[in-house]
Amino acid sequence: MMEKSYDERFAAFDENYKRILEAISNAAQKAGRSPDEITLLAATKTVPAEVINHAVQSGLSLIGENRVQELVQKEPFLSPMPHRHFIGHLQTNKVKEVVGRVEMIQSVHSLKLAQVISDHCMACGKVMPVLAEVNIGREESKSGFSPEAVTEAVAEIATLPGVRVCGLMAIPPICEEINELRRYFSQMHKLFIDIKGQKIDNSTMDILSMGMSGDFEVAIAEGANLVRIGSSLFGKRPAVKPSSET
Ligand SMILES: *Cc1c(COP(=O)(O)O)cnc(C)c1O
Repeated sequence: MMEKSYDERFAAFDENYKRILEAISNAAQKAGRSPDEITLLAATKTVPAEVINHAVQSGLSLIGENRVQELVQKEPFLSPMPHRHFIGHLQTNKVKEVVGRVEMIQSVHSLKLAQVISDHCMACGKVMPVLAEVNIGREESKSGFSPEAVTEAVAEIATLPGVRVCGLMAIPPICEEINELRRYFSQMHKLFIDIKGQKIDNSTMDILSMGMSGDFEVAIAEGANLVRIGSSLFGKRPAVKPSSET
């Protein structure tokens, strides 16, 4: 298959972006929420810097990268404009490469990782906003705190001086039934509200990050306020080679 030219990719992005913004807005209104409550993060794994920079010119303001190596390689070519989050599986030995390059780490899946991020941030005089990742489907293949453990985990992470807990993030299991999916999102929303209600010091609990290309409308209906969308914006990704970071 012929590779698409950048011009074709730019035009495809613009069309997709318009459609996704409309769909987000419609989903919010349908749920009785204001579209302004929902933040769109573009998941930019495998997307070249040229295409990301075009997307930023078209108005995109937040991107999320998954792989440390890819983030490091792309960074010099990225326009400085978009806010950047890390959303992929992060190993403790890669923390130092991520901390200076993103404004938030959404994928904090263990106390150990939170501790290492905090220690590193303390050493460079920063505080890193983080989300606690919840393994809402209790899947062995996924990392994250179990739904039972996350409340206590947030309280513990909140005691670390180099991080600030700003909310929760989840990737639910692949569901055949939309009601099953809805249930996972709604469990996440309940956890989010419960933890927020505890008003834990050094935590803000403003962000509930859930919903991707295939399910963001359901996620918004169930209370997500940050959706992470990749393929619906940038097109289908090429097959990924196995990597220890995903
Ligand atoms: C790739 C990715 C997304 C976006 O997935 P799409 O299905 O392409 O929209 C969202 N969140 C995370 C953590 C991802 O790795």
